[in-house]
Amino acid sequence: MFNKIKGQDRVISILKRAIEEDKIAHSYLFYGPDGVGKFTTALYFGMAINCLATHDKRPCGACNSCQKFLSFTHPDFIYTFPFPNPLKSDISASGEIKSDKAIEEYQDYVKNKIKTPWKEFFFTKNIGIRIGSIRMLEHRIYLTPHEANYKIFVIENAELMTVQAANAFLKTLEEPPNDSIIILTTSKPNSLLPTILSRCQKIQFAAISRYLIEKELEKNKFLEKFEIKMYARIANGNMEKALRLIDEGRIESREKTIEFLKFLLSGNDLHFIEFVKKYKTSKTQTQLVEIISHLIIWLADISYFKYCQEEIVNLDKTELIESLYNKNQNVEEYVDNLIEFLEKMLRRLEGHVNPQLIFTEIYNKFKMTFFGKTI
Ligand SMILES: [Zn+2]
Repeated sequence: MFNKIKGQDRVISILKRAIEEDKIAHSYLFYGPDGVGKFTTALYFGMAINCLATHDKRPCGACNSCQKFLSFTHPDFIYTFPFPNPLKSDISASGEIKSDKAIEEYQDYVKNKIKTPWKEFFFTKNIGIRIGSIRMLEHRIYLTPHEANYKIFVIENAELMTVQAANAFLKTLEEPPNDSIIILTTSKPNSLLPTILSRCQKIQFAAISRYLIEKELEKNKFLEKFEIKMYARIANGNMEKALRLIDEGRIESREKTIEFLKFLLSGNDLHFIEFVKKYKTSKTQTQLVEIISHLIIWLADISYFKYCQEEIVNLDKTELIESLYNKNQNVEEYVDNLIEFLEKMLRRLEGHVNPQLIFTEIYNKFKMTFFGKTI
């Protein structure tokens, strides 16, 4: 089943070798960008270690043990993830959650993780990994396994451990029992305590190449070629994001981008001024981030229009690309510069600058480039 994980051949071969040579570490840190398969790899690794099939087939995905891992019902698979802080009254003396609402939310999260792991799950409150969860983990780690050879503990987004939780966890990491394997996953290894980092075997996950993402998206027969290319670029190495974009049909931000470019070409600034009013609130920030990602693709398309047309992403809108190109044909003078400018705008958006202000600045920069003037 390891071959289901795309673009992490190096990682998979390290883990397979560890199993074959019986040199499995007791604690691992899987780190790397979001959406590249860290959790799935942790799950499959735990499955492979406990799988009942012959060596070469592990994890088989079909045996009793694998099935339980895949449905998250294996009693020796303990999965910890950031969760909203339950009220004290909602927790029993042994640390278990009592509140129906919290249990429901917990189950919804796990259900989403099993069925549609690429979907984002939004909790009702701020999340973190708290000392209660670590205490529970500590308790379970010293029990003998129910049925597996090794108990598998996966702590997802471990950087979200509170200071208290991290300190408590450190003690567990010092001397984990021989029948336990702990796997931490994170996209921000530097936010973890150095003492935690130094006690784990570190396994780095890479961003997934655009080519591999495109190949994966091609399996979806409903997608147009331009959509495959577009999603793969916006996903920027994040397979989960690519799948999510398709799932959500994120065509809307592309439509907005096209609208923006048409305003620009028409020279009717009033239309733009009306349009940009919708971007006043900080809620529109994510929309603008997407529009900027699209604009970067359009800019690349303009330069492909000149040099290598088969690379164009927005294949269904070549007339728009051509119109922009005709306004200013010196692509080598402005494309890189504009992309750099847009990347700077993305960073400013992270700093919570008003999206309307940023969008207007972008409009002016584009107007200057293609028409030699501003609003
Ligand atoms: Zn199996």
